[in-house]
Amino acid sequence: MNGLVCLVAFLVAIWLSSVIEWVVHKHFMHSIRFMRTPHDRHAVMHHSERRAPGKFFAKEDELRDYHLFETSFMPILWILHAPLFYSVYLLFGSWASLGVAAGTACYVMAYELLHWHIHCPDEFRFRQKRWFLFLTEHHRRHHNRSNINYNVVLPVADWMFGTLSYRDLAPEPEHVSGQVTAF
Ligand SMILES: [Zn+2]
Ligand SMILES: [Zn+2]
Repeated sequence: MNGLVCLVAFLVAIWLSSVIEWVVHKHFMHSIRFMRTPHDRHAVMHHSERRAPGKFFAKEDELRDYHLFETSFMPILWILHAPLFYSVYLLFGSWASLGVAAGTACYVMAYELLHWHIHCPDEFRFRQKRWFLFLTEHHRRHHNRSNINYNVVLPVADWMFGTLSYRDLAPEPEHVSGQVTAF
């Protein structure tokens, strides 16, 4: 029973994380309404460096300057969620709290790793998998038009809030040269 509670809490947390990712990406990383730093790091720096089509994939000589955790606000956000884990603990017990903490932590890690590999796919072991090529094209459209496709990991919130878009987009130079597989 404890295991089931933990699993249900984990799955609810994954869904909730998709919604949180969407809200944070739209209202903190693409807006200065609440804070300036996440916007400057992401909307100004990351989006101008990685515009699509043309500059979406980091070139080899740029990799040294491109660091994990640099372009997002997600790990800080996870720490800010400590009151949520505590509230779930008070309401539903320690197994549910553990499930929520684990689900949101997995999502944040997935965000950082996937976002990094989406822009630097060369060494990624899943780079040819359809799910990864799908997420790459999903995010590439966000780098072309920053008011669509806010999710990176699980586009459930994009679907819920009507920001999902798969309209045609010109390929990257790496798609044309065959260095990176197109979806
Ligand atoms: Zn963005
Ligand atoms: Zn990006």
